[in-house]
Amino acid sequence: MAWDFSTDPEFQEQLDWMREVVRERVMPLETLDLDYAGIQRALRPLQEEVKARGLWAAHLDPELGGQGFGQVKLGLMHEVLGMTPYAPFAFGNAAPDSGNSEILAIAGTPEQKERWLEPLLAGDLHSAFSMTEPHTAGSDPTQLKTRAELVGDEWVVNGHKWFSSNGSIADFLILMAVTDPDARSYQRASMFIVPADTPGVRILRDVATMEHPQENYGKYGNHAEILYEDVRLPADALLGARGAGFLIAQQRLYPGRIHHCMRWLGVSQRAFDMLCERALYREVAGGVLAEQQTVQNWIADSAAQMQAARLMTLHAAWKMDTEGVAAARKEISLIKFFGAEALHDIVDRALQAHGSLGYSTDLPLEAMYRYSRGARFYDGPDEVHRASVARQILRGYEAPADGVPSEHVPRRREAARRQFAELLEAVTSND
Ligand SMILES: Cc1cc2nc3c(=O)[nH]c(=O)nc-3n(C[C@H](O)[C@H](O)[C@H](O)COP(=O)(O)OP(=O)(O)OC[C@H]3O[C@@H](n4cnc5c(N)ncnc54)[C@H](O)[C@@H]3O)c2cc1C
Repeated sequence: MAWDFSTDPEFQEQLDWMREVVRERVMPLETLDLDYAGIQRALRPLQEEVKARGLWAAHLDPELGGQGFGQVKLGLMHEVLGMTPYAPFAFGNAAPDSGNSEILAIAGTPEQKERWLEPLLAGDLHSAFSMTEPHTAGSDPTQLKTRAELVGDEWVVNGHKWFSSNGSIADFLILMAVTDPDARSYQRASMFIVPADTPGVRILRDVATMEHPQENYGKYGNHAEILYEDVRLPADALLGARGAGFLIAQQRLYPGRIHHCMRWLGVSQRAFDMLCERALYREVAGGVLAEQQTVQNWIADSAAQMQAARLMTLHAAWKMDTEGVAAARKEISLIKFFGAEALHDIVDRALQAHGSLGYSTDLPLEAMYRYSRGARFYDGPDEVHRASVARQILRGYEAPADGVPSEHVPRRREAARRQFAELLEAVTSND
C-alpha cells in the first residue's frame, strides 16, 4: 500500500538550496527600489546557477529546456518561490510568460515555437495573455465579445480587453477572440498571437489597482487596457485549432492553480512567522500578545488552515500526476477557493496583530494583504469554484424517490425492527 508524505532526498536537497537562495539572495531585493531591468541584472548570476542545477523553467518538458517535473515537484518548488515576488524571475517561471510559454508549447506550430517560444524562454521577449474584457464577465468567458473574422486570408480583430498583465511592455499578446459565434459555447473562441506593434493594437493605459494604486505606465507587472481596432493578422497567427481557445486555456489554468495555491502558502508562511514573532514580544494587558486567547486562536487556526491547504494542494497535484487533469478538476476547484481564503485570513490576522505597524509600509504585510485580495477572484472567483465543486459532488447523490430523507429515523427504525425481528423477540422474551 502506497501512502507517503515524504519528499525524495535528492529533490529535498534542491528545495533546501532553493529556500536558502530565495531567503538570502532574492528577498533582500524587495527592500530596494529597483526597476525591472535592475532586478533582472541583480538576478542574472543566480539564474545561471539555477540553470546549472537543472531548475530553470521547470514547468516545461525537457525538449523545451524544462525538467518535465510533475505537479507535486512543481508545487513544492512554487511554495518556496512564493516567498517573494522576485523569486520566479530567478527560476524562469514568472507569470504571465510562464503560462504563455506553456500555451505555445501545447498549441504552437514548429514555426510559432521558433519565432515566439524560444526567445520567450531565453528572456528576450515578453508576452501578455489578453482575455478579460471590461464589459463582459471574466468569470463566464463564454460571453466574450472580441471578434476575429476571417476576411480573405486575413483575420480581422475588433474588441476591448483589460487586465492583460504586462500588456504595456509585451512584445506579443496571446489574444482570445470569438471566431465561431454560432458554435457551442465552449467552441466559439480561438487564440491568436498578436505582435504588440501590429497596427490597430492600442494600449490605452495601465489600470491602477489595489496592488499598484499609482498608475505608472509601462511597468513590469502592470495590467493593460487594450483596444483592438481592425487589427489584421495573417492566417498563421491562429494559435492551436480554430475553436480550441477554451480547451487550450484550461490546459494552462489547471496546473497554474496548483502553482498559485503553493505560492500563496509561501506568502502565508511569512505572514504566519511575523504573527508568531509579534505574539512573543508585544506587551499588552500585563503580558505579551501570546498570552491572549484570541491570539492563540489566530495562531492555531492559521496553522490548521496552512496545513489543510498544503495537503489539499499536494493531493490535487498528485491526482493530476497520477490520473490526469480531468480527474483532478474537483480537487483543483477546492484548493482554489480554500487556499485563497486561507491566504487572506492569515495575512489579515498577522496585520491585525501588528496594528499600525502592520498597516504601514515598514512591514511587507500591507502589500501581502493587497496581493491576497485578488486571489479570491482571479483565475475563477471563489463562488464559481464553490459552485463547480458542489455540482461535481452532487452528481454522486440522488433525491429520495418518495421525498423522505434516507436517514429518517422513524422509517429506519421500522426497517430495523423488521431486520432484527428475531433478535428483538428473543431480547423481549428474556425479559
Ligand atoms: C492581478 C490580476 C491579474 C490579472 N491578469 C489577467 C491577465 O493577464 N489576462 C486576463 O485576461 N485577465 C487577467 N485578470 C482578470 C481576471 O482574470 C478577472 O478579473 C477574473 O476572471 C474575474 O472576471 P471579472 O473581473 O470580469 O469579474 P466578474 O466576472 O464580473 O465577476 C465579479 C464577481 O461576481 C461574482 N460571480 C461571478 N460569477 C459568479 C457565479 N457563477 N456565482 C456567484 N457569483 C459569481 C463573484 O463574486 C465575482 O468576483 C487579472 C486580474 C487580476 C486581479
